[in-house]
Amino acid sequence: MTIRACVAGAGGFIGHHMVKHLKAEGYWVRGVDIKTPEFEPTHADEFEILDLRELTNTLTAVDGVDEVYQLAADMGGIGYITEFRADVARNNILINSHMLEAAHRHGVGRYFFSSSACIYPAYRQESPDVTPLKEEDAYPADPEEGYGWEKLYAEKLCQYYLEEGKLSTRVARFHNIYGPLGTYDGGREKAPAAICRKVALTDDGGEIEIWGDGLQTRSFTYIDDCVEGIYRVAHSDYSHPLNLGTDELVSVDGLVDLICGVAGKTLEKRHDLTKPQGVRGRNSDNARLREVLGWEPPTSLATGLRHTYGWIESQLRGTDGIPGTLVEVAAER
Ligand code: NAD
Repeated sequence: MTIRACVAGAGGFIGHHMVKHLKAEGYWVRGVDIKTPEFEPTHADEFEILDLRELTNTLTAVDGVDEVYQLAADMGGIGYITEFRADVARNNILINSHMLEAAHRHGVGRYFFSSSACIYPAYRQESPDVTPLKEEDAYPADPEEGYGWEKLYAEKLCQYYLEEGKLSTRVARFHNIYGPLGTYDGGREKAPAAICRKVALTDDGGEIEIWGDGLQTRSFTYIDDCVEGIYRVAHSDYSHPLNLGTDELVSVDGLVDLICGVAGKTLEKRHDLTKPQGVRGRNSDNARLREVLGWEPPTSLATGLRHTYGWIESQLRGTDGIPGTLVEVAAER
């Protein structure tokens, strides 16, 4: 029998890739979002435009499905989530509480929730040379203001629905997902996409602006590994939150150098210390992920960035349907 799934947030970066992954697994998929995917048509069997802050809309979204992948969120890069804390926290708690309740009322079999590494406490992320974060490091809690607090509370809601036998919930904490078909412009983009865009738009020998002093560290996860990991976590027997990330730590300056290497350019970095840069260092401890799934994200940062840079550069050149050449786009900025 064909399994039916609802992907909430199917107009977004990870949701769109998740729809493609589930279709490849033979699922029937309903995509739901307030917008359609930006860069290519959805692969979903059905796509509904619904505002998931409303309970009635979440009930429509999950009607008749076996599995729910909850990837809808009001979110963006560090600039966005730092500036709009009230909206982000309110919108996301409405989406997450209503999606859980709707899935419970409709008797959904499996419910996957997309949490974030932003739930980890600031006091464990004060040095660039950070100790990788284990799942139990989440408490005592001191997460990212707004976005992180909401994610942590939504994790708790998943736990309560599970413990009361209302819903079989699964939770993964994503660590900086990047890849093709992700936002690279407009204010919601994350560091890898923003840096790829800046590098693509700057002539060899030129200068690009970097947020912060460039010494802050992160690990990044390629999108294909993310959707594979979501699928594996959703179907595992493990119901506590799991890290979904790589442990390949890199500084932001190191990330810039890798992208410049892919682009074949040598660029000067101008560090803007007035811009938000998030925690000082963050890395994923994957011991539990390996133990539970016998798997961890296999794609190296160098490989993932090659695909990502190539896609963003081609978007900017207009070869994928966007008019204008690289030179014209650069001149507009
Ligand atoms: P995204 O912004 O590309 O996708 C989120 C989608 O949710 C968007 O298409 C948006 O329109 C939709 N949405 C927002 N408000 C909605 C509403 N009221 N009703 C219906 N849909 C609504 O983000 P993404 O990178 O694909 O993230 C997917 C999930 O993964 C989110 O829960 C996010 O918090 C989580 N996450 C992402 C990352 C990352 O690095 N991308 C890291 C940690 C966690």
